[in-house]
Amino acid sequence: GKLAMDRGWAINVGGGFHHCSSDKGGGFCAYADITLAIKFLFERVEGVARATIIDLDAHQGNGHERDFLEDRRVYIMDVYNRHIYPGDGYAKRAIKRKVELEWGTEDMEYLQKVELHSEGALNEIRPDIIIYNAGTDILDGDPLGGLAISPQGIIKRDEIIFRAARRRGIPILMVTSGGYQKKTARIIADSILNLHRQGLIGEEHRISKSIQFILYGKEHFSFCVPQKKDNFMGLE
Ligand SMILES: [Zn+2]
Repeated sequence: GKLAMDRGWAINVGGGFHHCSSDKGGGFCAYADITLAIKFLFERVEGVARATIIDLDAHQGNGHERDFLEDRRVYIMDVYNRHIYPGDGYAKRAIKRKVELEWGTEDMEYLQKVELHSEGALNEIRPDIIIYNAGTDILDGDPLGGLAISPQGIIKRDEIIFRAARRRGIPILMVTSGGYQKKTARIIADSILNLHRQGLIGEEHRISKSIQFILYGKEHFSFCVPQKKDNFMGLE
């Protein structure tokens, strides 16, 4: 979070445990990293009074929603498959911009909705930081997500969100959240390289080296949640 504030963007290749709230775990999520990151920023980092969560994992992000239900400083946009876990009606009341998808939603419809609503959300309220929960369980064939987005669709989606943030000069912190196929590691790597190619991340020369490190890390960490913990330590 603080890294994003300092240099405009940050990516944590682990993290995004969006079913966990401050007082309760759930859905493979043992700690509420999104809530922690936002509370840390509000309390410890100057210049952060408002945050927007853009949650594009295939599942509803009921953890952070429950945590910020009564908190008007946090604007939540959530795009998810309406028929799968967790279907948390209580938490849904925290969502300012709710986009519910049907089984098997494909690229064209998905990307149109993502672009329309992310622009709408950021025009409605300008936050001091965007927390982007970039789950790859929207990928076609995911055993849990139930959507049908192509690898190119995921790369385009990430580009849409980074472009919206960077154009407005709003710092963005991306976390990679759910994704239950082995090939998502490669897609995340390709997406980060695309962001770099598009000039949306990285101004210094050092950046290509740190991207290589990120890629190396992602390929070599499995998707098992306890191992993700190592990555989490990098998140503030
Ligand atoms: Zn998910």
